[in-house]
Amino acid sequence: MNTTLNTGPACGDADRRIFEQELNDFLPRRIFDVHAHLFDAGCFVPSTKLPPKSCYRRFGGSFTREQYQGWADAWLPGRILHVNSFGHPSAETDRARSATYTGTISDNRRFFGMRLVAPHDPAAAIEASLREHALIGYKPYLNYVDWKPSDEVTIDDMLPAAQMELAERLGLIITLHIPRAERLADPINQAQMTALCRRYPRATFIFAHIGRAYFLNNVIGRLDGLAACPNAYLDTAMVNHEGVLEYTFRHFPRERILFGSDAPIALLRGKSVEINNQYAYLMGEDYLIGTAIVDTAHAVTFTTFFYEQLRGIRLAAARAGLTAAEVERLFFGNAHDLFTAAAARIHHLAPAAPAVTEDPSPHAQEPA
Ligand SMILES: [Zn+2]
Repeated sequence: MNTTLNTGPACGDADRRIFEQELNDFLPRRIFDVHAHLFDAGCFVPSTKLPPKSCYRRFGGSFTREQYQGWADAWLPGRILHVNSFGHPSAETDRARSATYTGTISDNRRFFGMRLVAPHDPAAAIEASLREHALIGYKPYLNYVDWKPSDEVTIDDMLPAAQMELAERLGLIITLHIPRAERLADPINQAQMTALCRRYPRATFIFAHIGRAYFLNNVIGRLDGLAACPNAYLDTAMVNHEGVLEYTFRHFPRERILFGSDAPIALLRGKSVEINNQYAYLMGEDYLIGTAIVDTAHAVTFTTFFYEQLRGIRLAAARAGLTAAEVERLFFGNAHDLFTAAAARIHHLAPAAPAVTEDPSPHAQEPA
């Protein structure tokens, strides 16, 4: 083992107890994380200097597939990690180099990859890049819309028609972090999300972070339009709110809910909390992400966002009455079937066998 590999926060005794007491009997043997940011230092433009409080500094300025696997060996013992990854969506990232990295670590069996796209990237160049690196879709980001203030960005700005026509023709998957202050509750977002799903039925949309609904009032009554679109999926990345998760499990087709982590951010110590129809990231470490409140006084002891997400899913699954088979599908089968089918379709690979729901016992044995 490479002892110099920086895998971020170490799993301590208290963390180990959480895993043993709360998670080990709940988690299936295979976990498919559909939302991970994996990149090496070469993915940044050469002049990049990460801000002092950037969470990527916690991992030495990169988060490679090896770093994620090293983290999972310690924090998710006995589990097999499957991943869909993309780079860090920002102006500091060289999108072409990031696509090369993503392609290098993707095998379209266990590791899948998406290309970061900006609205001005020509569709022909994107198609060539997807083919060269065997990637299965896009990850646009609102920061790449550079002609208007960020609070005025719309989904249609992020995904111009030429890119959508390519996605439709190839049957791509798009992971979309929706813009605008009201997120899932924003009427423009609601209209554009469902219109895109209907206009481009061969494309698949994964609305990240349950449409960024991190507090309960943002999700209530806001899933019905997407639930009616068979090509709309949700990922749970960074959502640890058991109320939001329970509502989602009750009001959205369970076969279209995918587990995502948002690694490496999720590997930090912290928890997302609802406060007065808003949310904040309570940070157990002195790094800044989004709307962060740092516990500089060490008022409480934290575990990671990742474990808090798993706890939230466990509690919500119990409240919403998910069966063990549905939990296994949420963590693995739904994503496995979606991504292997996309890889087969886009890159003309022999289709993989659909996921067979396993005995939910974590001690079930199967040859590796
Ligand atoms: Zn993310």
